Amino acid sequence: MSNKFSSRTWMQLLSTVKAVLVISVLTVFLGIPQTLLAESASAILKGAPEQAISAWEAGLLEITFIDVGKGDAILLHLPDGRFAMIDTGYEQTAKKVVQTIRALGATRLDLVVLTHHDKDHVGGYPHIVEEFPIGKVVQSYDFRDKKKTVLVQPGTDLVDEGGVVLSVLGPWKSYEDENDASLVTRLAFGKIAFLFPGDVVNKAQSDLLNRNLDLHADVLKVPHHGRYLGFSPRPFFMAVKSRFAVITSDEPNGEMPEGSVLRMLQESGNTVLRTDRLGTIRFLTDGKKLSYQTEFGGSM
Ligand SMILES: [Zn+2]
Repeated sequence: MSNKFSSRTWMQLLSTVKAVLVISVLTVFLGIPQTLLAESASAILKGAPEQAISAWEAGLLEITFIDVGKGDAILLHLPDGRFAMIDTGYEQTAKKVVQTIRALGATRLDLVVLTHHDKDHVGGYPHIVEEFPIGKVVQSYDFRDKKKTVLVQPGTDLVDEGGVVLSVLGPWKSYEDENDASLVTRLAFGKIAFLFPGDVVNKAQSDLLNRNLDLHADVLKVPHHGRYLGFSPRPFFMAVKSRFAVITSDEPNGEMPEGSVLRMLQESGNTVLRTDRLGTIRFLTDGKKLSYQTEFGGSM
């Protein structure tokens, strides 16, 4: 797939986002999305910025954190061409999510993971179901079931094909706090890993740490939007040892990550990427190198 096609695909995404958000200033960025390169352990993608990151092609893994404010909607484009989603954003952001994942080439979702049942994670699901054929939906608990039966056991691999393994790391038990009950997944592709912990907070973070699981990831979707109100996520961050911390937040509505959390992430070596500042954030990797691109450019 040529770079020409690749930039066109990304432009389509930008156009879609622009149409939805009606932000005229974005026009400036059309066609020249600012590209940022991320160091990998061994190499940096070479080439001019606009060439260094390209759209998905066979053999690559693309992870897109769609900007839905303080909420999660993450599209996974797997190396074998299939698409999966982790959470679906709000009902109010469903139209944008549908348009964005269409622009990224999805016509079907082979897997949808619903981490927990808060509206900022599952609100868009009914619309997604109407718009796309869906292969399989997984969630940690059936919310119609008063006993909260575990539907997906930790230790399960949801995907294990083409060098990509999407593993379920938790939850290991029921929690009173819906956030702690989040389905936690880790995606590994070659040397690169992503951790998607939903909104796990105090108790579930401790339980994950106590189980000595492999939590390490190059990219961490920061749980609970960077807000913890009274306990420290530092031990969790130290165990993950990520290089990039993606925070899904909504600054205009005051739903910002805590300053102490931002400092903690930076002190532990993370480049912090916030959707409220950067818009949609897209990572691309071949399993060795990792690059990223943001809707509005820049970091923090
Ligand atoms: Zn949330």
